[in-house]
Amino acid sequence: MANSARPVVIGGNWKMYKTIEESVRFIQQLAPMVTAAKELVYLAVPFTAIHTAAETAKNTRIVIGAQNMHEAVEGAFTGEVSAPMLRDAGAKFVLLGHSERRHIYHESDALINKKIKLALQEKLKPVLCIGETLQQREQGNYRDVLSGQIKSGLEGIKKEHLHNLILTYEPVWAIGTNRPATPKIAQQAHEICRQCLQEIFGREIAERTAILYGGSVKTDNAAHLIQQPDIDGLLIGGASLGIGSFSEIIHETNKYILTQELNK
Ligand code: PGA
Repeated sequence: MANSARPVVIGGNWKMYKTIEESVRFIQQLAPMVTAAKELVYLAVPFTAIHTAAETAKNTRIVIGAQNMHEAVEGAFTGEVSAPMLRDAGAKFVLLGHSERRHIYHESDALINKKIKLALQEKLKPVLCIGETLQQREQGNYRDVLSGQIKSGLEGIKKEHLHNLILTYEPVWAIGTNRPATPKIAQQAHEICRQCLQEIFGREIAERTAILYGGSVKTDNAAHLIQQPDIDGLLIGGASLGIGSFSEIIHETNKYILTQELNK
């Protein structure tokens, strides 16, 4: 996070965990711990908990969002949830293209692109997740995979909307595996992502866009990751479910930001 023009975001992705009551308890405990935090604290909660979580998080530093949405505004799509519904429930952002959506539910880049456009139109901040599989990394073509996902994910999106978007690099091999990317490997990938943004949207936009890292972030590697010049925040799955581990990650990254500010 070398560039102070970019926001630092610590995000939690709760996946299919936590009831409404558990979500409320978590937010009530977390809120007083993050009043002075320099980072933005994002929580992507299950659909069922969005409304109550957003109410509980009002006037705190915690921002509530969703983990997915449908690509149409409304329609006969049994079981789906739309962007306006998410806004109505109090969500401010939405994760799109998470590796579990891509791999378990076969979401394509084209579908993710539609969702991103709709999220922007409906004033929900899209958090576009990208990342290569182990096989793609071992074959050495992860650079093409990442730029391909960025290019197709953001196709047709106007430059002026980009300030509303967060990009997240989550190598598939690091998600939920306890095998995080080393800070060096993550930094290399983030550099590729930023270069790609620069090629499409120009230098200014590339420098302003926050790029988060996700994949087995824990209390012991968070601070090392955030120290990398192109890592502007973290998206945390497993370790965001426990108040202790999540608040400690926020605390550790906050300490680093404060030191940076003092050294300026
Ligand atoms: P993990 O998940 O931190 O449990 O690896 C990250 C994610 O899926 O966003």
